[in-house]
Amino acid sequence: MGLTPMMQQYLDAKEGCKDCILFFRLGDFYEMFFEDAEIASKELELVLTGRDCGLENRAPMCGIPYHAANSYISRLINKGYKVAICEQLEDPSQAKGIVKRGIIKVITPGTYTDASFLEENKNNYIMSLYLEKEKNMCALCFADVSTGEFNCTDMEFNLATLLDEISKYSPKEILTQDNLDEKIQKDIKERFSSSFTSLSEEFFILNSKELLSKQFSSFKEDDYSETLVKCSNGLLKYIVETQKTSLSHINCFNYYNVVDYMAIDINSRRNLELTETLRDKSKKGSLLWVMDRTNTAMGGRQLRKWIEQPLINNSSIKLRIDSVEELLNNLSVHEDLKEALKEIYDIERLVGKISSKNVNAKELISLKGSIKKIPIIKKILSNFETTLLHNMGVKLDELQDIYEILDKAIIDTPSISLKEGNLIKEGYNEEVDELKLAKAHGKDWIASLENSEREITGIKSLKVGYNKVFGYYIEVTKSNLSSIPEGRYIRKQTLANAERYITPSLKEMEDKILGAEEKLINLEYDIFIDVRDKIEKQVDRMQETAKIISEIDCLSSLATIALENNYCKPEISSKEDIYIEEGRHPVVEKMISSGSFISNDTVINTSDEQLLIITGPNMAGKSTYMRQVALIVLMAQIGSFVPAKKAVISVCDKIFTRIGASDDLAAGKSTFMVEMWEVSNILKNATNKSLILLDEVGRGTSTYDGLSIAWSVIEYICKNKKLKCKTLFATHYHELTKLESIIKGVKNYSVSVKEIGSDIVFLRKIVRGGADQSYGIEVAKLAGLPDKVIERAKEVLNSIENEKSNDIDVKEISNNNIQVGKEDMSHSQKEYISVDKDMTSKKIKNNNFTLKENKNVPLQMGFTDIGKDNLIKEISSLDVLSMTPMDGFNKLYDIIKRAKELD
Ligand code: ATP
Repeated sequence: MGLTPMMQQYLDAKEGCKDCILFFRLGDFYEMFFEDAEIASKELELVLTGRDCGLENRAPMCGIPYHAANSYISRLINKGYKVAICEQLEDPSQAKGIVKRGIIKVITPGTYTDASFLEENKNNYIMSLYLEKEKNMCALCFADVSTGEFNCTDMEFNLATLLDEISKYSPKEILTQDNLDEKIQKDIKERFSSSFTSLSEEFFILNSKELLSKQFSSFKEDDYSETLVKCSNGLLKYIVETQKTSLSHINCFNYYNVVDYMAIDINSRRNLELTETLRDKSKKGSLLWVMDRTNTAMGGRQLRKWIEQPLINNSSIKLRIDSVEELLNNLSVHEDLKEALKEIYDIERLVGKISSKNVNAKELISLKGSIKKIPIIKKILSNFETTLLHNMGVKLDELQDIYEILDKAIIDTPSISLKEGNLIKEGYNEEVDELKLAKAHGKDWIASLENSEREITGIKSLKVGYNKVFGYYIEVTKSNLSSIPEGRYIRKQTLANAERYITPSLKEMEDKILGAEEKLINLEYDIFIDVRDKIEKQVDRMQETAKIISEIDCLSSLATIALENNYCKPEISSKEDIYIEEGRHPVVEKMISSGSFISNDTVINTSDEQLLIITGPNMAGKSTYMRQVALIVLMAQIGSFVPAKKAVISVCDKIFTRIGASDDLAAGKSTFMVEMWEVSNILKNATNKSLILLDEVGRGTSTYDGLSIAWSVIEYICKNKKLKCKTLFATHYHELTKLESIIKGVKNYSVSVKEIGSDIVFLRKIVRGGADQSYGIEVAKLAGLPDKVIERAKEVLNSIENEKSNDIDVKEISNNNIQVGKEDMSHSQKEYISVDKDMTSKKIKNNNFTLKENKNVPLQMGFTDIGKDNLIKEISSLDVLSMTPMDGFNKLYDIIKRAKELD
């Protein structure tokens, strides 16, 4: 038994797309066979049947109607599968033997462009990563096949920067070398839910120069690193091989340098909830939600990019801010601009469809409608004087030649299908007009036939009708058959209570009508394709216009939010200071009832107010305050007005946050480990131009370890000349407030609360000075912890406080080293001392709670003591006899120096 020819054809096609589910076109269906059928039937809830295939067992099979394919494809792609479409490549009625079939497209998560799959205001990125370990270089390329965007960058390999950059784009699909280091693969896979495709090293390397130069006219291999060329080649080749169609809209090779934009690390993006919330990943509640008042889909996507990559160049930021101000000062002109923008369709994605030959006539009419508004926008922009708006107005191409072609050629309300006619306007093509006339004439003749035949036969119910099988016919009910004159009609079809007839002249007219109709459909299709191809030649002009429109829309959105939310114009300072008067959190103020947000001031710089320690009760608003400062800085660097009465912002190169839990928890690391990993990343990568937010660093471990780490992190940030960055440090370790008098630049702030009886009222006001209580129990009460638990907690707290005999304090003794110890103690290295309310040295007894008395246990060493201890150990281990006199002298010098520092 051998395979049937059809099944052989199927298996040959499958050979070329083993990692895809193959949709194999058979008539009006896409059929799937064997394992693909089993997967698809399960994933798409289709009935699994079988088909004789020439083998002993029937081939498992399931299918979907071809016209409903897109929704099924979307479902499979969303589940992470790839789909290959195998079409009939010739008309089955004309085929000799088995119909020729071939794969016309491979659909993958990063390349699918169907509207049912894409999100309007979000790009759909596919990314390639290429790493050359021996050079310590890596490159990243991102493309959006639906819009034609193609961005590339390269950098020295650094995993953290790499992950940050990927998180900026959130790609749907990631291409990597199949020999990429497993650890790196794992790190990426753990953090992103993208689908992954491994490609061979050769795939990235082969034909790199040719392919890129062919696609991008401006591409010059010598301008870029080898790593970048291979990376971009891999991505482009993959897109070409999967799309198998023209990609004329992917025409701009956009190289950028990561350091040209503010660096926001992956955790900060999440923690600051820039484009989605931490909790449910929704847009509502994010910064984007507040800032997005764009009127076009292109503007929506562009604004998201602006938020993902704030600027760091003072003058570029100022250009945006000044434009926003001008829009604000010209309210009625701005209103006109918004009205015009509302009428603009997604030109970027339409251009993508034109380029991939996938556009229909209705969409071209939408394009025409959009182009119609461009002269209006250009005229509006001519009113503006600020550089950005003015230049955009000058550069804006009105695309009137394209408008004219579309206006002349395409009917205003055309059919969606290109194979039904009703596409081309009267007057555009003589032959189309003639055929339309012939068709209309024929139809008129037929319409009049009904009346004339009724008169001749006297049968009032006589009808002229049409169906696809028999064509035009005359229908007479059975009760009237006797009234038909002998030999007038030729019988064609018998129904239950009527007969259908034809006449030679009716058939003649039918041939004319149908002939004209068929010709018309084909001719209209050909003309449509011609119009589409003419327009395709102007793809780059349309893209440029789309880009300008999207940027105007963003500026308009920034002006709208500034007006509606009462934002102020930030002053961009070239000094290292941030001054915010009556600042507000842009999102929280919108989530709570209007007017109830309490504004707060901020002064932070790199000298006397460098690191603000923020204490205050739980729930007081510490995190909100810190985030508010970061978001105000970020908004200013996007070019936006900010939620404050006044703001002077010095540009930050990076924003780091260590707040809340992290995604890495799922990856098997403990809370504390993740916290320390993040802190270490911050300390290694921050510069003196960075802004750092640290929320309760050290809380994930024992009090003493945590306090010590928090303490030394603050010291490190303030004393290390390379850092000295603006830092907000929220903490419940009140001991840290002592640092204000010890380290220059540290300043204490707290969020005030008012005690009313046993309750507390949050005032949400940031004031100078440290807080002295955490009010944890009061907040627990507010959260609804059972009364019994609250009462018991108060008892325990009282016991601890009452039993505290020797109050312990913190003090720095000298130099860089910190001593944690009782104020009145001598600093003997043998003394082991504890910090604050030390529970472990006390005995608290009652019915159900006992802490062990343990007075003699050495508690925690001060840092000076540790230093002295180490020095002693080092001296006692010296082997003087094996040293040269010079070594001995140097060692002695070193020891004396360190001993002086410890004294
Ligand atoms: P914890 O120490 O327990 O983490 P916290 O001090 O960081 O608490 P936040 O989480 O910042 O407190 O604030 C708690 C809630 O208080 C916020 O969800 C917000 O609704 C409200 N809030 C914070 N700041 C303000 C403010 N300035 N005006 C009005 N409401 C505020």
